[in-house]
Amino acid sequence: MSESRYPAEVDVVIVGSGPTGAAYARILSEDAPELTIAMLEVGPTVTSPPGAHVKNIVDAGDRARAQLLSEGPGAGDATFNSPTALAEGRRKARPGTFLLPDGAYATEGDGLPLAAMSSNVGGMGAHWTAACPRPGASERIGFLEADGELDRLLDEAERLLGVTRDAFDGAPFGDLLRERLAAAVGEGRVAASKVQRMPLAVHRREDGRLVWSGSDVVLGDVTRANPRFRLIDETLVTRVLVEDGRAAGVSVTDRRTGEDHTIAARSVVVAADALRTPQLLWASGIRPDALGRYLNDQSQVVYASRITGIDPAEAGTEPATTGGGGALSESSGVSWVPFTDDLPFHGQIMQLDASPVPLAEDDPVAPGSIVGLGLFCAKDIRRDDRLTFSDTEPDAYGMPGIRVHYSLTEADHDAIGRADEQIRLLADAVGEPLGDRPFQLPLGASLHYQGTTRMGETDDGESVCGPTSEVWAVSGLFVAGNNVIPTATACNPTLTSVALAVKGARALIAARAGD
Ligand code: FAD
Repeated sequence: MSESRYPAEVDVVIVGSGPTGAAYARILSEDAPELTIAMLEVGPTVTSPPGAHVKNIVDAGDRARAQLLSEGPGAGDATFNSPTALAEGRRKARPGTFLLPDGAYATEGDGLPLAAMSSNVGGMGAHWTAACPRPGASERIGFLEADGELDRLLDEAERLLGVTRDAFDGAPFGDLLRERLAAAVGEGRVAASKVQRMPLAVHRREDGRLVWSGSDVVLGDVTRANPRFRLIDETLVTRVLVEDGRAAGVSVTDRRTGEDHTIAARSVVVAADALRTPQLLWASGIRPDALGRYLNDQSQVVYASRITGIDPAEAGTEPATTGGGGALSESSGVSWVPFTDDLPFHGQIMQLDASPVPLAEDDPVAPGSIVGLGLFCAKDIRRDDRLTFSDTEPDAYGMPGIRVHYSLTEADHDAIGRADEQIRLLADAVGEPLGDRPFQLPLGASLHYQGTTRMGETDDGESVCGPTSEVWAVSGLFVAGNNVIPTATACNPTLTSVALAVKGARALIAARAGD
């Protein structure tokens, strides 16, 4: 008989292999190498090393296959990667992701038509843009600010994700672009909130190619070399087991054979994304009132503009040396207009490969001269914006069906109106806006869903876990992901959720030491 893929018992089970699950594995491997760890992932391994970003796959056909394999049980549905098509309101997933089924994304209210997930080793971190800004002003988590703790955790998250700021320093139009943006909206900004290069989880190899960070970078060599760490793919975790108010292990289904198994563990980390982490808790009978509540997405307003007054000869040639597949050309890089309480939008300005609107035939485009502008808005968060779960209408994995109850408030519509004005200002500053107006993307397009297992300072009924990410109701059970972030952020959330995972992993180790 062949040996089972599953150990009978480990010290720590990690559910999900995206960047936040990987952060737990990395910190445990660095600081507590004596602990045995099983990381369980429902999706297949689609890259080598496991968890690597698909943009690093050079061959376009191989990259497309890796994306398709990440698209869950409905894989094969058409996807597209065009902000213009999204702006037209078409309900299609981005490559490497899949959407909630029809009927589930808007059970009540506006819903989240583009709410998406990825099922593969590395999770969405194998498909992301890798923008890693720090939260600012009201985005920050007040109860983690004492003695600079939040910034130290964010430093650690940057280390784990391999964040750099200089990967696009060779981009000929980057500085010019930032000068123009700063001239338009730079007044009164301090160092942290000034217009600047976007911190990105990417590094440049000696041969000049860019390497985008995925969970492989977060895991790092130390985890891969850890003999007590195992990553087991194609494994659906169906239930977290709880005994006497404490985590006791997990039940799993082997997606290859259909067989069920149990793994005993005194520590369980659920890092299964903002939709499926609360789903698994629900399936496990862990149902605090705050579960699934405070769901928040970042509304997005987008526009495009052409950098005027530049010398096309400086632009370099297409295609860029980044590996394609949604990769960026290198003429203008990625710029960041940070969130402030006065201008509560996170601005991301990056090159578009082509104009989103038709240009005259006698109007040649200098490579890199067209940029997409995106402003993300923080949600007016409310406890009634929430996920619920249906035990009678399961999803394609057989887990409780996810239902979205979500609406924009008047304050949200005001914020979107202000973002519209702001993005016109930015597009004018860049040069020549393309198209007659900005667009609001359908809700859920941000891929940044938060709040559904939110962290709280105290167990006051409005949070699922405490400041260490340990679930209030179940000791030894930790939650990870954007779902843990309690504030309304506008910036890309992964750096923050990896920072919270670092704190959680250290707390887990400390708790084990005290057992
Ligand atoms: P995920 O990466 O989603 O991983 C969760 C994993 O859990 C998945 O692999 C899933 O299959 C697995 N899982 C779920 N349920 C189960 C179960 N029951 N059993 C076993 N396994 C399970 N964020 C940024 O901060 N900056 C960006 O620039 C950015 N750009 C993005 C662009 C795109 C196109 C996409 C798709 C995402 C982007 N994001 C970005 C979002 C970012 O990828 C996520 O914030 C990040 O991956 C979240 O990490 P995670 O570990 O919490 O979850």
